[in-house]
Amino acid sequence: MLNKEIIFLSPVFKHNIWGGEKLREDFGYNVEGTDIGECWGVSANENGDCKVRKGRYAGKTLSWLWRERTELFGNMDIDRFPLLIKLIDAKDDLSIQVHPDDAYAKENENGSFGKMECWYVLDCPDDASLVIGHNARDKEELKAMVRGGEWKKFIREIPVKKGDFIQIDPGTVHAIKGGFVILETQQNSDITYRIYDYGRRYKGELRELHIDKSLDVISVPAKSIEGTVRNTSVMKKNVLQELISCQYYKVFWIDLDREITLEQEFPFLIISVIDGEGSVDGCQVKKGDHFILPYNYGTAKFDGRMQMIASVPNNRNKRL
Ligand code: ZN
Repeated sequence: MLNKEIIFLSPVFKHNIWGGEKLREDFGYNVEGTDIGECWGVSANENGDCKVRKGRYAGKTLSWLWRERTELFGNMDIDRFPLLIKLIDAKDDLSIQVHPDDAYAKENENGSFGKMECWYVLDCPDDASLVIGHNARDKEELKAMVRGGEWKKFIREIPVKKGDFIQIDPGTVHAIKGGFVILETQQNSDITYRIYDYGRRYKGELRELHIDKSLDVISVPAKSIEGTVRNTSVMKKNVLQELISCQYYKVFWIDLDREITLEQEFPFLIISVIDGEGSVDGCQVKKGDHFILPYNYGTAKFDGRMQMIASVPNNRNKRL
């Protein structure tokens, strides 16, 4: 029998010192405040577990579904939901940070997953740039630059525009800057090491830095700039366009202006509507909606004028 019920999720919101109001004003979410930094659209993380919005499983959390209804996710052999999808609105610069990989996180962070992540740029200022990578040539230089606070020399910025897609491996120094709105697809992990926070004070306090752990995990030298950024403006409409396939996930971009049918051939297919509106098998969907087509869903009919980012888990997504 097919699993024909789409799993619609209610997001979890995060308030951050660098957050803004666009998640309410541009995406229409019902959330208060002027410091809304993140919308966790699809998450079963302990720090934000999305609930099913309607239907048979209304009110159940995604982590509950993952544990109790494994058949909806293709009975994958992983002890927790593998991915996390979030929207980020950065009114101010985020701190410069790095994430560990699975091996380091398992050893040093109570068995957590590491964090590989990727960004689709929904909006950013003209002539914008992001911090991706660093300029140290070897471990010695890395330590000298970080411990010596030589941030201007250390930080590598690369130009980025709307519609760009960027993969961030564990060990990559990175920072989102003020004015960016992005959709992030990542491993289900909340482990971040902060390297540098521009010396900013919040309520008189500096935020904690994690220099030793950062130095442990930063890759040296950084991956070259070439091949780090892809732009979607040259891609074909009305098909599933693969943006990345790495060991943990595949991410797709879909720009729809007519009816299409898609075969749901993955363990499960996560979809976030990032612009416009339309329908999936007769269910109305619009910008800001996040949902999952379960395992064995069969064929889905999409219609409307909308842009979506979709993702699926990849095989290597197992505990070590
Ligand atoms: Zn990150």
